[in-house]
Amino acid sequence: MQTAIIYTRVSTDEQAEKGYSLRDQQQRLEKHCEAKGYEIVKHFQDDHSAKTFNRPEFHNLLDFIKKNKGRVKKIVVAKWDRFSRNMEASLNMITFLLKLGITVEAMEQPLDESVPENLLMKAFYLAAPQVENARRSLNTTNGMRRALKEGRYVSTAPYGFKNTRDEQNRPIITPSGMAPVVKKAFEEIASGNFQIEVLRKSLLKEGLKISRSNFYTLLRNPIYCGLIRVKAYKDEPEEIVQGIHEPIISEALFYEVQNVLDGKKKAKTKYSLVNNEYPMRGHLICPRCGKTLTGSSALGNGGKYYYYHCTAGCKERHKSDVPLNAFEIWLKDISIKPELAALYLAVMEDVFKTNEGDRDAEIKKLHEKIETNKELLRSSALKLAKDDIDKFVYHTVRDKVNEENRAFEYKIAELKKLDSGFKEYCHYGISLLSNIGHY
Ligand SMILES: [Zn+2]
Repeated sequence: MQTAIIYTRVSTDEQAEKGYSLRDQQQRLEKHCEAKGYEIVKHFQDDHSAKTFNRPEFHNLLDFIKKNKGRVKKIVVAKWDRFSRNMEASLNMITFLLKLGITVEAMEQPLDESVPENLLMKAFYLAAPQVENARRSLNTTNGMRRALKEGRYVSTAPYGFKNTRDEQNRPIITPSGMAPVVKKAFEEIASGNFQIEVLRKSLLKEGLKISRSNFYTLLRNPIYCGLIRVKAYKDEPEEIVQGIHEPIISEALFYEVQNVLDGKKKAKTKYSLVNNEYPMRGHLICPRCGKTLTGSSALGNGGKYYYYHCTAGCKERHKSDVPLNAFEIWLKDISIKPELAALYLAVMEDVFKTNEGDRDAEIKKLHEKIETNKELLRSSALKLAKDDIDKFVYHTVRDKVNEENRAFEYKIAELKKLDSGFKEYCHYGISLLSNIGHY
């Protein structure tokens, strides 16, 4: 009498499907074995949908086989896709089991192994579930991309949005209760008054529960101004399409924030961190004991007075405007005098022009090299036409010329990039150093 293990498995989404419940599978397999005269030594059952054999009960099955060497002759499953939905894994497992003297049998897809051509049939049975999986996920990908391109966001709603359905009962995203906080985040970043992380932490109190890196991702996502980024896929490049959902912010605001993040618009950092009453707090050191002075206010003489003072018993104490005035006087002292500023500027412009001239000369030289190369290529083509040189020589020359010229063009582009707003920076820098007290 043949001995068999029966193995049953369904994936979660199949459980409800008629005829495929685990109980049903088991009963039909038992009947099958009875009819074939197999003695069932054990039954294993997985409700795992793993595509490979990395399932808990299948591990137990293998353990059982190893512990009971020679006792089991067959593993019987309902269909090949119950065994595995991955062809390669299936074949490896079948080979492995065969070495232990065990064959796998699929009740509904029986194969007479003594007929060689049936191996083709078996390969088909094993491959089909994998093809089906691949097709299903491809359809999902394609379907989602099609929806995205039509402006319909169908994935899990990004922070500040929620997944709902429109009048036609099709999925769509709409602003959620957190939308006002998201909007505020964009507005504050655009104002330039906050460092991003400082802002994120302050918005935590208003319910913005989002990690540091997710906050960056959020600020970069055009979905908030009504646009959808469709990522590059295969040979389709990334594109941004108009979404059909209600935006949380305007496009203008979105791009303003991108400029701040790109560093094109300078954030007025720290501004928000400075306390207007004690602008020097944290920067003053007690001349008596070396601790950092702190600030506080006191009421007196019908008004509020602000002080910097030491702590823990030390009596050092100053009205807040005293060090501030002293600091301003010192800044005036190190500021550049107007007559000197003009001189500095003239010197720097002179140096800049010299460098600029060098750069121009270099660019000109590169253009000449490119022209020389092109001339070489033209004369080679003529020689080829007159049969003075053969095709191979011509192609060698052509490839070398093209390669060199590409490198030259690249260098020119790089040199032109250096032609930055030097003058503008100089003027700004000089102006800053001339009026540093005011700044
Ligand atoms: Zn002190």
